[in-house]
Amino acid sequence: MQHFDVLVVGAGISGIGAGYHLQTLCPGRTYAIFEGREAIGGTWDLFRYPGVRSDSDMYTLGFSFRPWKEAKAIADGPSILNYLRETAAAFGIDKHVHYGRQVKRAAWDSAQSRWTVDYEEGLERTHAQVSCGFLFMCAGYYNYAQGHRPQFAGEDQFKGQIVHPQAWPEDLDYAGKRVVVVGSGATAVTLVPEMARTAAHVTMLQRSPTYVVSRPAEDAFANSLRKRLPAKLAYDIVRWRNVLGQMYLFNLTRKRPELVKTKIIDMVRAELGPDYDVATHFTPRYNPWDQRLCLVPDADLFETIRNGTASVVTDHVEAFEAAGVRLKSGRTLDADIIVTATGLDMQLMGGLEVVVDGAPIELAKTFSYKAMMYSGVPNLASTFGYTNASWTLKADLTAEYVCRLLNHMNRRGFTECRPVNDEALEAAPWLDFTSGYVTRAMHRFPKQGHKAPWRVYQNYALDLMAFRYGAVEDGVMRFSNPRQPATRSRRRPQAAAARA
Ligand SMILES: Cc1cc2nc3c(=O)[nH]c(=O)nc-3n(C[C@H](O)[C@H](O)[C@H](O)COP(=O)(O)OP(=O)(O)OC[C@H]3O[C@@H](n4cnc5c(N)ncnc54)[C@H](O)[C@@H]3O)c2cc1C
Repeated sequence: MQHFDVLVVGAGISGIGAGYHLQTLCPGRTYAIFEGREAIGGTWDLFRYPGVRSDSDMYTLGFSFRPWKEAKAIADGPSILNYLRETAAAFGIDKHVHYGRQVKRAAWDSAQSRWTVDYEEGLERTHAQVSCGFLFMCAGYYNYAQGHRPQFAGEDQFKGQIVHPQAWPEDLDYAGKRVVVVGSGATAVTLVPEMARTAAHVTMLQRSPTYVVSRPAEDAFANSLRKRLPAKLAYDIVRWRNVLGQMYLFNLTRKRPELVKTKIIDMVRAELGPDYDVATHFTPRYNPWDQRLCLVPDADLFETIRNGTASVVTDHVEAFEAAGVRLKSGRTLDADIIVTATGLDMQLMGGLEVVVDGAPIELAKTFSYKAMMYSGVPNLASTFGYTNASWTLKADLTAEYVCRLLNHMNRRGFTECRPVNDEALEAAPWLDFTSGYVTRAMHRFPKQGHKAPWRVYQNYALDLMAFRYGAVEDGVMRFSNPRQPATRSRRRPQAAAARA
C-alpha cells in the first residue's frame, strides 16, 4: 500500500495552503493531496452561477504567502480560481494533487501509528487504499453532491425552470425572462444584480431580511500602495489593516449592537431613499453578526432596486403554481425561472467515516481541540475558517500549527498525538451562528468547551498567538510512540498550560 507521511484531503484554498505549508515548514515529509473532483480550486471551481464572487476582501481571502495583485478587492469567481491555480502551479503544489479520489473512510491503528484510508477512484468509483501518518482534512464545510433544497408544494405544476445555484446549468438563458430568486443570503444578493442586467425583472423573495452592507469593489488605498511598495509588503500592510478593521467592527457589534444596526440600516436608507420600505425588507430581526453580513460591491444590489430591474418581496412561499409562486399573503409572483438560493448543506470533513482502533467515532460526541482536532482522535486535523472573517486567515494558521505539531513529534520521536479531554467541560455548539445552514447542521458537528484549548475562538489575533506561539505540549495533547513502551507525554502543570 502506498504510504504518505501526510495525506491532505481536498484541493481548495485550504488544501493548497496545506501543501504550501507542509513543503515549506516540513520539507522532509512526503505528502499527497487527494481531491474528489477532477479540478483544483474547490468552491471556486464548483460554483458557476452568474456573478459568483467573494464576499470578503481578497487581501484576507488570499494566502498569507502569495499577494493578491488584482485591482478588485471583492473579486469574481474566475479571478479567484485563476489565483488558486497559479498559486498551486507556482509552488509545485499541483504536482502533489491526485484527482478523482474521493476519500470515504479512515481507520487508525495505534500499534502501527498510521491511518488506513479508503477512497473511491475515477468514474467507476474503484475502491482503493492508502496509508498515512497524519490525516489533514481540507474538505471544506458543505456537501458537494447537493445543496440544501427544501421541497415546495406544487413544484411539479410550475411550467418554467427551477435552478439551484450549486448546480447552475451552463446554458441557462435568462435574458428577457422573469426570475424569482428564493433566498436573501450571500448567493441571492450576488445573483440578483447580475441577472437583472439582462432579465426582464428579478425578484428577490425572502422570508426575512438580512443585513446588507455595500463596500467599494476596489480598494483605492491598496491599489495605490501597491504602486509604491513591493507587492508583498503592500499586501501585508493591507491584510493587517483589514484584519484589525474587521476585528474592531465585530467587537463593536458585540458591545453595541444597536449602534451598528442603526448605522447599517441608515446606509441602506441612504441608498434606497426615504420612500423605500427599509423596515420590511432590510431590517433583520437579529443583531448584526448573529449571522454573516452580506456584502455587495459598489452598492450593485441597491442600484438595481433603484432602477427597477430588481425588487425585494418579504413573504412566504405558499406553493409553486404553473405561472410562478403563490405567497402566503395571497399575492402571486409570475416567473419563467425560479432560483432556489436556499443555501448549503453543511458537512463535516467531506462526510469522512472515522474509526480508531476498530471503534467507529461519532464526531458529534467529541470536543473540538483548537477548533481543528477532535478529542480522542489521533493524528487528524481539519480546517474550518472563520465565520466573521475570511476563511483563509484560519486555514493558514491551521496549516502552520499542524506543521509545528509534526515537527515537534519528529524532534522528540513521537508518532502519535491525541487530544484527550479528561475534565468536565461545559458543552456548547461548535458555531454560535443563527443562520439556517448552521443551525440545521450543528447536531452533526463536534462541541466546543468553555475554555481553551476546547473553545472555538472566532478571533484571528487570539488564534495567531495560540497556534503560532502557544506550547505544543499543553497537557491536553498526549504524545506517544508505540515502539517505545513508556508513554513519553509530558504533562505540564495546568497553570502553565493555561498561560500557553
Ligand atoms: C459561493 C461562495 C462564496 C464564498 N465566498 C467567501 C468569501 O468571500 N470569503 C470567505 O472567507 N469564504 C467564502 N466562502 C466560503 C469558502 O468555501 C471558503 O472561503 C473556501 O473557499 C473554502 O476552501 P476549502 O479549501 O476549505 O474548501 P472547498 O473550497 O470547499 O474545497 C474542498 C475540496 O475538498 C474536496 N473534497 C471534499 N470532500 C472530499 C472527500 N471526501 N474526498 C476527496 N475530496 C474531497 C472538494 O471536492 C473540494 O475540492 C464562500 C463559499 C461559497 C459557496
